[in-house]
Amino acid sequence: MCGIAGYVGLRPAAPIILECLKRLEYRGYDSCGLAVESGGPLVVRKTVGSIDHFQEEIAALAPQGTTGIGHTRWATHGKVDERNAHPHVSCDGSIAIVHNGVIENADRLRVELTQRGHRFTSDTDSEVVAHLLEEDVRQGRSFDRAFLALQESLLGTYAILAVRAGSGEILVTRKGSPLVIGVGPTEYFPASDIPSFLPITPRVVYLGEDECFALAPSGMRRLVLDGDRAVRRGDVPKPDSVSLAPDSISKGNFEHFMIKEILEQTGTLERLIGGAPGVVREIVPLLRRAHELVFVGAGTSYHACLFGQYLLAAVARRHSDAYVSSDFEHHAELLGPDSLVIALSQSGETRDTLEALRLAKDRGARTIALTNVELSSIARLTDHVIPLFSGPELAVAATKSYTAQLAILALLGQSLVSDEDGVRPLWQARDALFNLTSEAARHHTRELGRELLGPQPVFLTGRGRHYVTALEAALKLKEVAGLKAEALHGGEMKHGTLALIENGTPAIHFYDDQDFTRTEIAASELRSRGARIFSVGPRPLASSDHHIRVDDAGIATPIVQVIPMQILAYELAKLKSMDPDRPRNLAKSVTVP
Ligand code: GLU
Repeated sequence: MCGIAGYVGLRPAAPIILECLKRLEYRGYDSCGLAVESGGPLVVRKTVGSIDHFQEEIAALAPQGTTGIGHTRWATHGKVDERNAHPHVSCDGSIAIVHNGVIENADRLRVELTQRGHRFTSDTDSEVVAHLLEEDVRQGRSFDRAFLALQESLLGTYAILAVRAGSGEILVTRKGSPLVIGVGPTEYFPASDIPSFLPITPRVVYLGEDECFALAPSGMRRLVLDGDRAVRRGDVPKPDSVSLAPDSISKGNFEHFMIKEILEQTGTLERLIGGAPGVVREIVPLLRRAHELVFVGAGTSYHACLFGQYLLAAVARRHSDAYVSSDFEHHAELLGPDSLVIALSQSGETRDTLEALRLAKDRGARTIALTNVELSSIARLTDHVIPLFSGPELAVAATKSYTAQLAILALLGQSLVSDEDGVRPLWQARDALFNLTSEAARHHTRELGRELLGPQPVFLTGRGRHYVTALEAALKLKEVAGLKAEALHGGEMKHGTLALIENGTPAIHFYDDQDFTRTEIAASELRSRGARIFSVGPRPLASSDHHIRVDDAGIATPIVQVIPMQILAYELAKLKSMDPDRPRNLAKSVTVP
């Protein structure tokens, strides 16, 4: 997690780095900092809180210099305070680094470096990097050689930017954590993600695992070992041009990214309907051939995996399994060359999912990625990629990428059983979605949100694929609006949780015509015990206190049902004066284990 952004060029670095960091705040926002190099000693500034706050704080004393590195943190090691904010510096202050990832052998390295006289000033795992570089230089190695030696010393994951006083350049490398480089005529913008620099340059170089480069206004050079010597070579990758429009990463007239992205879903679904069927068709023979079909994902993407499992059973009569990425290792042994693993990840960088894929590949399984970022680590690791056609999703809570994942899975299911492109239910979903995002529908949902304010837990239930909606809706209410929300399978309430129902406990039911009767019975059992019944389906239940109408869209119904829940979570966050784009303790792409 976390965002890193650097600048080296001919312009003052600090304001550019702050702007670039701001566009990465979805990756972490508990504290931030930067280090600037201007020929003399490095100037390092850090603060706890947002980049906006930081910008104000350092407005008057923004360090001068045209080379610098910055960081917006999502803490993994060491609490959130100024000491632990990045950049971290060597004992003599001449080397500064920012790091994204987790250094797994940091404790051992810290002990060794302390024995050699290094003084640590933070509790982070990252700080060892600055001291390792310093130690190697003390031992007589060049800075380039010391930087290359990090690959031998560090276990774990990292994207690292390092700057040394007086050098006028930035050294960069990555392993397991994302890092890209924006390229201008006489300037470079190393960063965790493309939105960081997109308004300045669309030209980007993607770093491969373990690649090291030195960036200076005069150019970019590759760092490699020649025997035990570090040498610089001119064979650097040609920049790609990114076709994203810069306004796809700005809020425009919207108050928050989350509502912008919720409302974009009619358009993203249309784009997907236009582009995805062809890609899906190419993948179908792989699915047909596969002996085992496995979906793997984390968080919202895991919910989409469950949808995939229900859908393949219902539509294509195919057995499949859905695993949480971090649990995959317990099942990996069952896979082999006849298995097909379908990995779902919005960012394509989710660390647990990457790990799962590596295990799958070790077993010889074929792999497919459903991801929003076509050149992400997951996309590059898998045999095939199906893009989500969603455009950048910058709010921490997934919305449009989730409905896109469901839509692609629906297409996959349909394509297994018919030669048609399977887009009809998606058009139905698109029309229903359009209605549910209207101002009137949003107003209704906002009013309903008021009914959920208060300390009581909220229970959400559904059966089959509607259980998936209950899970995803509960997650949205938890992460965005801080509600105690629990999703239960529609048939499970009476097997225990009923004991928690009190007078006024809200219970939200998701269903379609098929489930109507069974849902009505379950809701009536809850109502008899005092629950307030909220229903989300084609028509109200007899016991509904509040109803949101969601028309049936066949297999695509869950795409539609989740929309009012996304809006509800957003509106509730606002009613509770929370920032919907920045849920507490979370960050968007989870690139740490
Ligand atoms: N492990 C580092 C820390 O705790 C970096 C975490 C991150 O990638 O945000 O500061």
